[in-house]
Amino acid sequence: MKVGILGGGQLGQMLARAARQLGLEPLVVDPKPDAVAGEIARHVVADYEDEAAVAEMAGCDVVTYEFENVPSASVERLAEKVTVHPAPIALAMSCDRRVEKGLFRELGIPTADFRDVGSREELARAVEAIGLPAILKTCRFGYDGKGQAVLRSTEDVAVAWDRLGGQPLILEAFVPFDREVSLIAVRARDGSMRTWAATENWHVDGILHVSRAPAADVSPALFEQAREWMESIMARLDYVGVLVVEFFQVGEAFVANEMACRVHNSGHWTIEGSSTSQFENHMRAVAGLPLGPTDSRGFSAMINLVGEIPDLDALEGMPGVHVHVYGKSPAPGRKLGHVTLVEPDRDRLEKKLERVLERIGDRGVA
Ligand code: AMP
Repeated sequence: MKVGILGGGQLGQMLARAARQLGLEPLVVDPKPDAVAGEIARHVVADYEDEAAVAEMAGCDVVTYEFENVPSASVERLAEKVTVHPAPIALAMSCDRRVEKGLFRELGIPTADFRDVGSREELARAVEAIGLPAILKTCRFGYDGKGQAVLRSTEDVAVAWDRLGGQPLILEAFVPFDREVSLIAVRARDGSMRTWAATENWHVDGILHVSRAPAADVSPALFEQAREWMESIMARLDYVGVLVVEFFQVGEAFVANEMACRVHNSGHWTIEGSSTSQFENHMRAVAGLPLGPTDSRGFSAMINLVGEIPDLDALEGMPGVHVHVYGKSPAPGRKLGHVTLVEPDRDRLEKKLERVLERIGDRGVA
């Protein structure tokens, strides 16, 4: 069975590896000749709208994608020729913050108050309505904290407009969160759904730095509520594959920040830390195979290697430490690999995490 993957970065690489392990044949389309998924899968170096690439994808049994910025119109056209999971509507909704937040509202999922901003005047009115601090975000192409500005004072408003104005924006109320938690779920073609343990995420400079799972102190009631929200999103979008929702936790409440219609960085720990990884279950779902169990194997932490690869020899011989290097060329802010630790209890995990961070000379994100 041939599975087409739009996008050939590290997510595509790990999806392609999972596909191979399941006996599926992955095929990747990515315009970058050095896209790292090309090491695992046959790689068509072409634009997503390229005629030959579309024909290649149309020849697959099913097509999926590994990032949101694949043009949704071209995915819709592709979906007329071949089954695409998750459905193009999910992609169209998740790649536009305004539409995505509208979906949260429609389904009764709490999200930060927001206003559409299309002009300087609208921004002034939105600031009036929402108050400061607030966050101005581009509706599209924002990730890892890009395409947004925190407005703390009236002076910030003009500066942010000068930087981001001229494209669709939203102004979002600032959420004074205690921490960030993501929920990763997968839905099969038959509608069955599984959820991994909640993941706590720590960002540095807007980029995910460390994830821990299961997140400490998520009450069963809170988890169940979030699980039901995910279920309602997936049902609404007739969803097949992995879906991730990032929440802000404020006291005993979750506020949805954004969703990703794909496998996600905060789920990398599932490769070693769960019975079935997010990558395998995504592939199982889109290929129509039964889902694997998503129970945790212990307590996991994942450290992103960003900007440069540290001296990994320092980790040689440490049990329970798993290194993943994607093979990308170093650049500031670029995710080049990750390290996952799995321990039988939380205490040991925290101690080992501290040791690993020390050994790789981690001082945050390069
Ligand atoms: P995003 O691109 O929406 O994931 O935002 C990147 C990071 O900015 C988040 O992980 C938060 O740390 C922070 N952030 C985004 N939106 C808000 C908000 N409404 N209130 C407070 N912090 C936010």
